[in-house]
Amino acid sequence: FLPHLVASMEQVEETYIMVKPDGVQRGLVGEIISRFEKKGFKLTGLKLFQCPKQLAEEHYKDLKEKSFFPKLIEYITSGPVVCMAWEGVGVVASARKLIGSTNPLQAEPGTIRGDLAVQTGRNVVHGSDSPENGKREISLWFKEGELCEWAPVQAPWLRE
Ligand code: UDP
Ligand code: MG
Repeated sequence: FLPHLVASMEQVEETYIMVKPDGVQRGLVGEIISRFEKKGFKLTGLKLFQCPKQLAEEHYKDLKEKSFFPKLIEYITSGPVVCMAWEGVGVVASARKLIGSTNPLQAEPGTIRGDLAVQTGRNVVHGSDSPENGKREISLWFKEGELCEWAPVQAPWLRE
């Protein structure tokens, strides 16, 4: 049993979180950012952004063949979104849990979608589904120089 192997399993991950246009329109930006901030993850990128169609299509390229794809692209480009990059050990899966199921009616109370939304087509927030997609999506939505490297003062109070 080698403790350093356990440490190396605790990989720092990055995830791309986005408040979708309905979340912005409904005034839920602060509420949604708060959920991740209070949990203890590190914000490394943040901007309000009007998404061009081409970027929305690239972001959701795996869903290209789905019947809802055109409506999804229309939804995501219908108004500004809030783009965020968050960093931390286990942040990808944890953020998905904080967000809740894709269908807000099935999302548990206490999750963002469970508390704040009622329909799949208006589910207020996006979160990457794997560490690989976290990296891919952050590089898609953020340009060089838009991300910040910083050391939160609370770090020793979050992890021993
Ligand atoms: N979506 C939809 N209808 C569906 C499934 C998905 O409109 O039947 C939309 C919804 O906004 C969802 C997004 O497409 O959040 C991406 O779908 P995915 O299955 O990746 O869900 P997520 O990862 O966002 O929970
Ligand atoms: Mg997804």
